[in-house]
Amino acid sequence: MISIWEKETFFAPQDVIIAGSGFVGLWSAFYLKRKHPKLKITILERGMIPTGASTRNAGFACFGSLSELMFDAKTMGTENMLKLVEMRFKGLQKIQKFFKKKKIDYENCGGYELFDSGTSLTNDELQNSIEYMNSVLRPIIHSKNTYNLSNEAKDEFGFGNTTHIVKNNLEGYLHSGKLLQALLQEVQYMGVQVFTNIEITSFNLIEDELEIQTNKEMDFNTKKFLVCTNAFAKELVPELDVVPARGQVLLTSEIAGLPWKGTFHSDEGYYYFRNLGSRVLLGGARNKAFADERTTAIETTELIQKELERYLEQIVIPNHAGSYTIDQRWSGIMAMGSEKMPIVKEVSPHIFCAVRMSGMGVALAPTVGQQITSLMYGD
Ligand SMILES: Cc1cc2nc3c(=O)[nH]c(=O)nc-3n(C[C@H](O)[C@H](O)[C@H](O)COP(=O)(O)OP(=O)(O)OC[C@H]3O[C@@H](n4cnc5c(N)ncnc54)[C@H](O)[C@@H]3O)c2cc1C
Repeated sequence: MISIWEKETFFAPQDVIIAGSGFVGLWSAFYLKRKHPKLKITILERGMIPTGASTRNAGFACFGSLSELMFDAKTMGTENMLKLVEMRFKGLQKIQKFFKKKKIDYENCGGYELFDSGTSLTNDELQNSIEYMNSVLRPIIHSKNTYNLSNEAKDEFGFGNTTHIVKNNLEGYLHSGKLLQALLQEVQYMGVQVFTNIEITSFNLIEDELEIQTNKEMDFNTKKFLVCTNAFAKELVPELDVVPARGQVLLTSEIAGLPWKGTFHSDEGYYYFRNLGSRVLLGGARNKAFADERTTAIETTELIQKELERYLEQIVIPNHAGSYTIDQRWSGIMAMGSEKMPIVKEVSPHIFCAVRMSGMGVALAPTVGQQITSLMYGD
């Protein structure tokens, strides 16, 4: 039983209810409120804190490695690949516009891609791909040389089995927890109500209003409902083309004399690592057990963790055997599908979704938040 005071405030009918308080839910609330300050908005989050990908990722501020974009151009067409890169690139600019770099540990440290002896590419072929990609990216990135062959880094960084390194000068990293917290505080300051530990279980459209049922005694009423539950989206909207993809990560202890700094990708993005101070955060290897990793279970497995340890020892820090321990392991859940483009659409009257952020949702989320705002209320 609720009181009249509660009914007329916390539980009053809303203009928008958002499911999920990851980056997409929060950036959507941010833009909705920025554009339409009078809207009453409530976010309902199942976890005590966001519990999907946003606080469990690697914190790369990236928009795509060379081989991944070459692959995307082939599979999605150059135009769509560029559209997606532009969304990510603009997203990174928005993050830097609204949050001081220092507050979220944002650093333009550079992004690198490693090519190993298994690659059939010669230096010349790689150079041609770089020139091609730089030329098609130029109109959206406004930089002459996004990618450069950086083989001098190969000797300096001391990676195992690495024949070429390509540098992206415009990438960097940030602290995902600090960004999420800052964004959460910002939307609350703007007047968005955020409830945690409450799961949306179903919803019904009754005339022009939606009734949102939850796992608590309390139901909510709203004019519009926005699903931002990414990998879990099918629980609420079963027809969506969303497939969960677990990403596992490990973090080492501090390593004295770590010879490199930055964000690194290899194997079309299936392996990725960065420094966190003098620690190494390494993730990936999902391609070693695709079927098992198609899950929403937030757990780690021995198979993937052993593979990450092997990669760490043989490729990432081959000259530091015995000088570190693995201090933390965790996983998070991404959302993939038959296409790489996020799904930003009206599912049915009054019901919208912004989901399927693939592996670069930190960068995508601000742009997606802006897009869904336009879709829901026009420009
Ligand atoms: C290991 C890993 C590494 C990654 N590394 C990077 C990286 O370096 N750079 C990058 O750009 N991207 C990275 N990503 C991807 C990025 O983190 C995601 O694309 C992004 O965080 C997705 O944000 P989201 O808000 O859509 O989803 P989420 O953060 O998953 O948020 C969805 C929220 O919905 C909530 N929810 C689910 N169901 C319900 C319900 N029924 N009711 C209420 N709430 C519900 C969940 O609890 C969750 O908090 C990585 C992902 C992983 C897993």
